[in-house]
Amino acid sequence: MKPPIRPDVPLREFTTLGVGGPARFWADCADEEQLKEALAWARSEGRMPTVLGGGSNVLASDAGFDGLVVRIMNSNITFEADVAGQVLVRVGAGCIWDEFVAAMVAEGLSGVECLSGIPGWVGAAPIQNIGAYGQEVAETLASVRVVHRFSGDTEEIPADMLGFAYRQSRFKEDWRDRYVITRVDFRLPRNPRGTVRFPALKQLLGMSERDLAPELPTIREAVIDIRREKSMVLDPEDPNRRSAGSFFVNPVVSDRIANAVQKRARTRGTHRRMPRFATADGIKLSAAWLIEEAGFPRGFGRNRVGLSSKHTLALINRGDASAEELVSLAAEIRHEVHKVFGVLLTPEPVFLGFSKSTQALLADSRPSDEGPG
Ligand SMILES: Cc1cc2nc3c(=O)[nH]c(=O)nc-3n(C[C@H](O)[C@H](O)[C@H](O)COP(=O)(O)OP(=O)(O)OC[C@H]3O[C@@H](n4cnc5c(N)ncnc54)[C@H](O)[C@@H]3O)c2cc1C
Repeated sequence: MKPPIRPDVPLREFTTLGVGGPARFWADCADEEQLKEALAWARSEGRMPTVLGGGSNVLASDAGFDGLVVRIMNSNITFEADVAGQVLVRVGAGCIWDEFVAAMVAEGLSGVECLSGIPGWVGAAPIQNIGAYGQEVAETLASVRVVHRFSGDTEEIPADMLGFAYRQSRFKEDWRDRYVITRVDFRLPRNPRGTVRFPALKQLLGMSERDLAPELPTIREAVIDIRREKSMVLDPEDPNRRSAGSFFVNPVVSDRIANAVQKRARTRGTHRRMPRFATADGIKLSAAWLIEEAGFPRGFGRNRVGLSSKHTLALINRGDASAEELVSLAAEIRHEVHKVFGVLLTPEPVFLGFSKSTQALLADSRPSDEGPG
């Protein structure tokens, strides 16, 4: 049965940044069959389809989206074979991410406990390989079930095909706009104790290097506490609540560039140590540190937009802001960081309904994007 298709649904009501004009058409699909019907309708009407979950990683344009927004509402969780202490868990894309994590913690299944409190739905988790506190979804994701947006065909794709990297997957690259994820399968070890790698989390839990990790519910509570401190959980009472989480990803650069950035910081007389972390792909710098050193402290404000008072990386809508104002602040920050440190920051949220590419939009929203290179 075709799902009800609604016209002119305001995106600002369905995105955590609280901005965005109308979606021309909107369909909430109960299951894959309804999704296929909705996609067929979009094809027959010549309308571009896109997909939303919880809207917590999207910056929607003031003009809105002139196509069909679909959401897949299936939120079933099923437990399959338990092989060698690992359980295959199949989760509907419409399941709220944190409800899934809570259910796994209650079940004694480890591997996602440090991802407690991340907003959004399960179907979006693979898109940017969500991660926090030393854990990321790529570690336990087994496969995804998808519907091709244009042919309507169904496929199951194993994790090793998904091109996972830090906040990255093929869904953000060559498969952008190709599939709707309808189910995500995880392989989770049955283990009442979790994994704690992140130093700040270890400290909060009072763990020394040799201590075993605490039980899963303890880790979950500690993670949610830290996140709440940083306004990184959705809380209707929090003045920093209208954000998309981190607006920029931490840049991963070569050793040579990391040294050059450090040199520039020293030349400027920076007193704070520059954070740098060696990863398999290069040196990860702290986008928050670069932004602060470039002159944008926590709580920085530009009329109706600003930075969270608890988290430098979160751009916030301080009330009734437009997408244009957010883009303009993002462009200003990116421009200044580039001018001061020669590093171009990449935004984390997906831009929806803009006529230009994200890079072009950010470059054009400033008079010049040239830095000292
Ligand atoms: C306060 C706050 C804290 C956050 N903290 C973190 C964090 O710690 N770590 C982290 O990684 N992220 C974090 N985020 C970002 C965000 O929560 C995640 O990226 C989340 O996975 C987005 O889920 P969503 O359902 O809201 O996706 P949406 O915002 O609705 O969509 C995001 C993208 O995914 C696509 N998409 C959504 N569902 C599907 C689907 N079923 N099939 C195909 N494509 C789909 C959309 O088209 C869009 O391109 C945070 C956000 C906020 C607001």
